[in-house]
Amino acid sequence: MLQKLLDFIWPRKCAVCSGASDRPGRYICSDCLMRLPFTPVDGLCSCCGRDAPGVEGGFLCSECMEPPRPNFDRAGNVFRFEGHLREMISAYKFRGALHLRDDFVDFLEAYAKVRFRIEEIACVLPMPSSFSNRFWRGYNQCEYLAKPLSQRLSLPYCSRALRRTGSFRRQAELSGEERRINVKGTFAVTRKGEEVIKNLPPGKAILLLDDIMTTGSTLSECAKTLKAAGAQEVWCITLARPAMQ
Ligand SMILES: [Zn+2]
Ligand SMILES: [Zn+2]
Repeated sequence: MLQKLLDFIWPRKCAVCSGASDRPGRYICSDCLMRLPFTPVDGLCSCCGRDAPGVEGGFLCSECMEPPRPNFDRAGNVFRFEGHLREMISAYKFRGALHLRDDFVDFLEAYAKVRFRIEEIACVLPMPSSFSNRFWRGYNQCEYLAKPLSQRLSLPYCSRALRRTGSFRRQAELSGEERRINVKGTFAVTRKGEEVIKNLPPGKAILLLDDIMTTGSTLSECAKTLKAAGAQEVWCITLARPAMQ
């Protein structure tokens, strides 16, 4: 009711078409919502969640089948990283468009429920940001999504369980193999993280949240670090992934 009143006083503009948003408290109107590039929920690689057009049911993609395999056990990506969606995520990540958070959390929640068995998840962890990114942006865009997502899924939220041990070159500039080498050894489990892992119920997974997955090497390195500290299963969820090259 309050939200409807606030929307009446300050109408929200749709982040895609700039028309008035017809969804209370949200910045993507229902017409534009229908046209977003959602990843299908079927025909996905059972490990990394990549979709292959025309494939039905589960399969294992070549990158998850051949070594070096990802260290995470399962991943899901809500969208293909393209078009308006790409613009919105970039605005959220780099230009402080934090008002898009609730829209993104809606999508993450819905996708998590389809892709994962929520009752098998122990807690939600955000991808840690480097000190310089936090300093320049003033926020960690993953923490900002992971916390409300954990609340929606009624799961514990664990921030600062992982930290970056140093800076590395921006992954976007590198090839697949270079990315893997570039992130090697750049994460560490914090003392708080050690506590979290020590108290994980047996067989339950950690759900790690990142904004974008490209080759998956950063998430894989995080999963490797968490597993070296004793975690059994690591699952990953991201907002988007570019279509297969
Ligand atoms: Zn719209
Ligand atoms: Zn795969």
